[in-house]
Amino acid sequence: MKRTEIKYLLERTDFGEIVNVKGWVRTKRASKNVAFIALNDGSTIKNVQIVVEVNDVFEKILERIHTGAALSVDGVLAESLGSGQKVEIQAKEITVLGEADPNEYPLQPKKHSLEFLREKAHLRFRTNTFSAIARIRHAMIFAIHQFFNERNFYNIHTPIITGSDAEGAGEMFQVTTLNLENVPKTEDGKVDYKKDFFGKPANLTVSGQLEGELAALALSKIYTFGPTFRAENSNTTRHLAEFWMIEPEMAFYDLDDNMDLAEEMLKYVIRYALDHCMDDLQFLSKRQQEEEKNKKQNERSMELIEKLNFILAEPFVRLSYTEAIRILMNSKPNKKKRFQYVIEAWGADLQSEHERYLVEKHFKRPVILTDYPADIKAFYMKQNEDGKTVRAMDVLFPQIGEIIGGSQREEDYNKLYDRIKALNIPESSMWWYLETRKFGSVPHSGFGLGFERLILFLTGMSNIRDVIPFPRTPQNLEF
Ligand code: ATP
Ligand code: MN
Repeated sequence: MKRTEIKYLLERTDFGEIVNVKGWVRTKRASKNVAFIALNDGSTIKNVQIVVEVNDVFEKILERIHTGAALSVDGVLAESLGSGQKVEIQAKEITVLGEADPNEYPLQPKKHSLEFLREKAHLRFRTNTFSAIARIRHAMIFAIHQFFNERNFYNIHTPIITGSDAEGAGEMFQVTTLNLENVPKTEDGKVDYKKDFFGKPANLTVSGQLEGELAALALSKIYTFGPTFRAENSNTTRHLAEFWMIEPEMAFYDLDDNMDLAEEMLKYVIRYALDHCMDDLQFLSKRQQEEEKNKKQNERSMELIEKLNFILAEPFVRLSYTEAIRILMNSKPNKKKRFQYVIEAWGADLQSEHERYLVEKHFKRPVILTDYPADIKAFYMKQNEDGKTVRAMDVLFPQIGEIIGGSQREEDYNKLYDRIKALNIPESSMWWYLETRKFGSVPHSGFGLGFERLILFLTGMSNIRDVIPFPRTPQNLEF
């Protein structure tokens, strides 16, 4: 018989029909005459209740059914009074597709800590929390592609292995086929990269931006959506060694256009989540509220769905780095030295505690900061007239801090060239990037959105390790 996914089954009203469902047992409750099995197949956070009469046939089968087992059930679709759903299935035939020994299966029906579940990443998809996050991730991937497709952006695949280490110098993963036990050396004792796979050093990319710009300077509007890798040894709740980034690049866009696009995109995908993922969001909202019961009143975050609607309601605040520094230097936590990094002067790099102060305490909504000091930003950002700042923009979100980093790009060949020289970036690795400023250069802009930071925000989870199925972080490469 043809299987009906539970998501669709729960919408059916043709009671009396024989149906088939397949899935994994969440719970089993048995009394003398009747047993109830909650079955989930991942198509929705909701379970379907299987009602099993305890007779001679089913008694034997029920003994083999425990949390985690996989079943195929044929039965009568019936109206349900007690299960919390409108429908249930009265079992006629049950096949145990795969047993799960209750003495060994780790996900028994009780509350597990997120730390415990990280060690069971091979099974944690089977929990409500992680299946909800997986479905929301999918919806957001889809929404992002839809957003750009509707606006005539082309998706470009930029390389994952790169020969340029311009942007993330010092925090890249090297890629090599050299035998590390016996590295070939040149006469002067250095590693002989001529013998390596590419004939030169290679790394995993930290960003698709530079190649994305090349495409934008012909196709006008492009975006990338790919994996990026950073060997930064920062064990925070917001950093992964492998994460996914969305990077649009647009010819003829200035910084204001860039900010408009970033704000429009974030609101679009949040609206999409509210329209398409309500069951999962409601579950995660309840989950978060449970977690927060232990927190002090003033440390609790806004209810998840309220928070998402709140982001949609107001325009983001836009202000310059210079103004932000003034606000921060006059702020209570700075004066009372309650920040871990006290801001001493203009030029300081902002930490997430400062970003979150601006967003959560001062403005109480998302903030876009612009015109940062050149010294704390990348070489390719457009230089301002003042000779000190660049046309950068960071979008700051509650709970997250920086969710997007972007800029208008320097389109002037000489200014870009001088900056590359000043920073000692080898011209030999940048010649192709520089050439776009020689031939038909135009003002252009772009930004990078960290996909997992977006998912953190949308799900109300607090650790980035819990919003990607298989997190890569320092000393952690199990699954
Ligand atoms: P941060 O200061 O938070 O480390 P960044 O300035 O290094 O961020 P960018 O290089 O501008 O970040 O990258 C663009 C976006 O990618 C960031 O706004 C953030 O959303 C995301 N991002 C950066 N580093 C990481 C990471 N290690 N793990 C997950 N997301 C990241
Ligand atoms: Mn970083």
